[in-house]
Amino acid sequence: MARGGWFRRPLRNGNRPAPVPGDLWTKCPRCGEISFTRDLERNLKVCPKCGYHHKLTARERIQMTVDPDSFEEIDAGVCSLDPLGFPEYAEKLMRAQQATGLCDAIVTGYARIEGYPLLLAAADFAFMGGSMGGALGEKVVRMMERAVRERLPVVVFTANGGGARMQEGLFSLMQMAKTSAGVALLHREAVPYIVVLTDPTMAGVYASFASLGDIILAEPGATIGFAGRRVGNQDLGVKLPDDFQTAEFQQRCGMVDRVVPRREMRGTLALLLGLLAEERAHAE
Ligand SMILES: [Zn+2]
Repeated sequence: MARGGWFRRPLRNGNRPAPVPGDLWTKCPRCGEISFTRDLERNLKVCPKCGYHHKLTARERIQMTVDPDSFEEIDAGVCSLDPLGFPEYAEKLMRAQQATGLCDAIVTGYARIEGYPLLLAAADFAFMGGSMGGALGEKVVRMMERAVRERLPVVVFTANGGGARMQEGLFSLMQMAKTSAGVALLHREAVPYIVVLTDPTMAGVYASFASLGDIILAEPGATIGFAGRRVGNQDLGVKLPDDFQTAEFQQRCGMVDRVVPRREMRGTLALLLGLLAEERAHAE
């Protein structure tokens, strides 16, 4: 064998290996299965081996859920400010905006699912962990007020790792009360409000608009709760069940109405929107 053996063997395409894009393969964080990213995307980013639901961006979520070309974004320019002049916050915001192409951690707009019109919000975990600052709360509430004015049902996909965005201090915490008041307005005006909890939905978001839906769905295996598992174990000194704070656990405890696999989500939402539309037609 020539010097260098296998590693020096000339390649057919002029001695240069074909470039391999870094995102050609995706590894499942749960079972380690390595899938072709393209195949995984065709499978709605659900691991073919263990059923793990990979995180989605807000745009991916919307594209998978609504009728083609039916999404019309609103309030795209509502961005968080840096009211406290918190060290490095402005730079972090700018980096998150550049990385995601979003102004903040949620996208809202008009859409249709199987022809049923609605207002929809999708949170984006890739934008600072989906944390809730002033812009996120404002966008959610503006959408809810629009839903009341235009008598449209609301569907919100949540995704949030750390609750309120600490860099905005009280301005962030206030969004819990503000978004809860938004939901109260929907309830008072009899506008249907459906929440889909995706992995993870925690802390201030869970303790406000995410847990207040008329109907609460969740994706399989999603982590859902207020304080994390470690806080429970250490501070309460109790042994928690293995599936503590999963979507399935929350369904058993009555906090989630139904765990719905991603492949069935669009159909389930269409069914619910259809029933609600029928109900409304009877009432009028
Ligand atoms: Zn897997």
